[in-house]
Amino acid sequence: MITTTGSWRRAGEELAAIGADAVTRGLVLASGGNLSTRVAEDRVLITCGGTWLDRLGRDDFCVIDFDGNVVDGEGKPSSEWKLHTRTYQVRGDVNSVIHLHPQTSLLIDALGLDIRLLTMDHANYVRKVARTDFFHNGTDELADSAASAALDANCVIMAHHGCSCVGPTAQMAYRRALNLEQAAEMTYRLHALGNTTAEFPREAFERIRHK
Ligand SMILES: [Zn+2]
Repeated sequence: MITTTGSWRRAGEELAAIGADAVTRGLVLASGGNLSTRVAEDRVLITCGGTWLDRLGRDDFCVIDFDGNVVDGEGKPSSEWKLHTRTYQVRGDVNSVIHLHPQTSLLIDALGLDIRLLTMDHANYVRKVARTDFFHNGTDELADSAASAALDANCVIMAHHGCSCVGPTAQMAYRRALNLEQAAEMTYRLHALGNTTAEFPREAFERIRHK
């Protein structure tokens, strides 16, 4: 039975709220995607395999170490647990990983196009989009390539699969995922209108980046 301290319970409740919101917004079909929060330096609260993100309860989470050993909870971690732990291992500043399957972000990437940042929120929250080629879910290749891409980006597209958005809090990681998908939707519309140049003003972007 998971657990224990109030802070871990709150982390689960926060992820459950994010999961429900992500499904409502169509950022993932309900049984896809997985979410995690770092609850100690090398301990990760993560959704269990096969859970539905719009109805996450306490038993749908477990706590694992960086080798995937369950240290609290009854269930098995998501098959994507390595994606989460490898990212935490290389990004000491990251305390949450949000993995969703946002359709327009994947569509833009599949077309070989870059997701363009259009608004101040895109510039502030997304800043940079990194990508990996396709690797099967649950593999070391996927986990390592996504972790490596996250070294200098907080939003990573994993081709033909999904995104991994990271942040110091779950709220920030999710805000980045929302803005990533909105930027992709606006990019799609720009291309549909025949526009290939519109972007957030470069000078203002540089100021934000160096803030
Ligand atoms: Zn996935």
